[in-house]
Amino acid sequence: MAGKPDVVVVGAGVMGCSAAYWLSKEGYKVLTLEKEAVAAGASGMSAAHWLAVGRSAREVLQDGWLTELGWLSCKLHQELACVLPQESGIDIGYREHPAIQPAFSMEEVESLKPQLSASKRDDPSVRWLEGQALWEVEPRLNRHVLGGLAYRQAQVLAYQFVLALVEAAERRGMELRHGKVVGLLGSDGQVTGVQLRHGETVATETVVLAMGPWSQRAEAWLGLKVPVYPVRGQLLELRVPDPQLQASLSYNDMYLVHKADGTTLAGATYEPDSGFADRPTAAGLEAVMNAALQMAPSLEEAQVASHISGLRPASGDALPLIGPIPGWQGVYMVSGHDRHGMELSLISTRIVTDLIVKGHSPVPIEMFDPARFGSME
Ligand SMILES: Cc1cc2nc3c(=O)[nH]c(=O)nc-3n(C[C@H](O)[C@H](O)[C@H](O)COP(=O)(O)OP(=O)(O)OC[C@H]3O[C@@H](n4cnc5c(N)ncnc54)[C@H](O)[C@@H]3O)c2cc1C
Repeated sequence: MAGKPDVVVVGAGVMGCSAAYWLSKEGYKVLTLEKEAVAAGASGMSAAHWLAVGRSAREVLQDGWLTELGWLSCKLHQELACVLPQESGIDIGYREHPAIQPAFSMEEVESLKPQLSASKRDDPSVRWLEGQALWEVEPRLNRHVLGGLAYRQAQVLAYQFVLALVEAAERRGMELRHGKVVGLLGSDGQVTGVQLRHGETVATETVVLAMGPWSQRAEAWLGLKVPVYPVRGQLLELRVPDPQLQASLSYNDMYLVHKADGTTLAGATYEPDSGFADRPTAAGLEAVMNAALQMAPSLEEAQVASHISGLRPASGDALPLIGPIPGWQGVYMVSGHDRHGMELSLISTRIVTDLIVKGHSPVPIEMFDPARFGSME
C-alpha cells in the first residue's frame, strides 16, 4: 500500500472484514492485518444462520438488546444479498427459508406457545403449528412433535460471505496482509500506529480491533479489562439423501440447517470451558448427532462429511463490545458477539464505521461500551 493507511483493522474474521468493507466503501485506505488467514477462526466455521427475519418474530424469540441490533443487521444482510455478489463475484448463498422450533413435551409446549401471541401483532410469519401443518413445512420433522413455532429465517455461507467482503474491499483498494499485532503506538492519547510481532510498525491514526476470542490480549495495550473468552462450538457437515430439509429446525440450542452449497449443518455445542482448545471431540459429535436425530430421525441415513469446530468470542456480560476506547483517540473495538457474530456483523461494523466517518453511531451503543468492565489496576 502506498503511503500510510487511514485505518488499520486487526483481525480478518467477519468483524474485521466487514469493517474493512464498509470503510473501503467510504473511500478510506484500509490495511487489514491477520495473524492466520481470512476467516480462520469462528467466522469460517459458523453455521451462519440467524433467527427470524420478521421484526416481531425477533421480539418474541430474542432478548431485548439483540432485537433491535438484529433487526437492523438483517436489513443490511437483505440489502447486501444482491449487492455483495456483484461487488465481489462470489456467491454468498443468502437465503430466506422457514424455520421451526419444535416442542416434544407438554412442558415445552407451555413454555413456547405463549411467545406466539405477542408476535401476532404485526407479523403473520410467526405461527403455532401442529401435526400435519408442521410436517408440510418440514416433512423430516420427528412425528412425535406436539407442536412448534414456525417463522422465517435467513442464512449465508459463512466462509464465502467473509471472502466476498474481503474481495469487495480489495477491489476498492483495501490491502490484506499477514501479520500479528502485538501492541499499539501512541502519543498524547492519540494512536499513531500498531506494532507487529517481529518489531515492524505500521503508522496510522485509526485502529479497529476485531480480534474475536483473542481480544483479551489487548488488555495490556489498552489498560482496560476486556473479558472476552473463547467458547468452542462443534458442527457436523452432513450429506443428506434427497429430500433435503426445507426448514431449519432448532431445539434446545441445537439446530439443523440445509445450506446453499448442498450440505446440511448439524450443530452446535456450546462449551464455555473449552479455553483455546479448538479441536472437535467425540463427546461433541455424540451431542450434536443425538440432537439432530431427535429433531429429524430419518437423518440416520445421512453421511457425516466432516466434523468441525470454532471458538466463539463470548463476553463477560453476554453483550458485545462495540465502540471507541477511552484514553486512546482513534482506537475502536468490535468483539464479543458470541453466537451472533455472523448475524450482527454488518450492523456492528456499520456502527464502528459511522463512528470513524461521522463521529456518531446510528443507534445507541452505551450498553456495548468496551470500557464498561473498568480499567486494569
Ligand atoms: C460452530 C459455530 C456456529 C456458529 N453459528 C452462528 C450462526 O448461526 N449465526 C451467527 O450469527 N453466528 C454464529 N456463530 C458465531 C460467529 O461465528 C462468531 O460470533 C463470529 O464469527 C465472530 O467473528 P469475529 O470476527 O469477532 O472473530 P473471529 O472469527 O475469531 O476472527 C478474529 C480474527 O482475528 C485474528 N486475530 C486475533 N488477534 C490478532 C492479532 N493480534 N493480530 C492479527 N490478527 C489477529 C484471528 O486470527 C481471527 O482470524 C457460530 C460460531 C460457531 C463456532
